[in-house]
Amino acid sequence: MLSKRLEQAINEQIKNELYSGYLYLAMAAQCESMNLKGFAHWLKVQAKEELGHAMRLYDFVNDRGGRVVLEAIEKPPVEYPSLQAMFTTVLEHEQKVTVLINKLYEMAKEENDYPLQVHLQWFIEEQVEEEKNPTEILAMLKLTGEGGNGLLMLDSKLREREEE
Ligand code: MG
Repeated sequence: MLSKRLEQAINEQIKNELYSGYLYLAMAAQCESMNLKGFAHWLKVQAKEELGHAMRLYDFVNDRGGRVVLEAIEKPPVEYPSLQAMFTTVLEHEQKVTVLINKLYEMAKEENDYPLQVHLQWFIEEQVEEEKNPTEILAMLKLTGEGGNGLLMLDSKLREREEE
């Protein structure tokens, strides 16, 4: 059985993952409006992944006899001044999520909740990827700039991202 403290902390993380999805979907919407279909596709795949992260935690709470409570999700920003600004936000957001996951893991250790520690290992590994991807996209954006053929090539490369 999950402790009330851990149950609450996981519910908070479910909200954080759903917010991540909302944030990336809002970014996708801006890219659609700029006709950057590849960027929009990449961000939509990412948004779906975030829903998957939330669902892993949702199922875990239920499997442990806890009660999922969904908290309010805040409104994400509507517009970024540039793609570099957008992907800097992605990177910074994922760095924050990493800290939150690590804190949750610490809490699970304090309470000797072994199943939660094991469950969170997947998330700890996933965060490596989640920080790596926007770092790589930012590096490419710096090379291509935000216009011309370079940007179109990057857009078609991002279009290739497969759903997991
Ligand atoms: Mg996530």
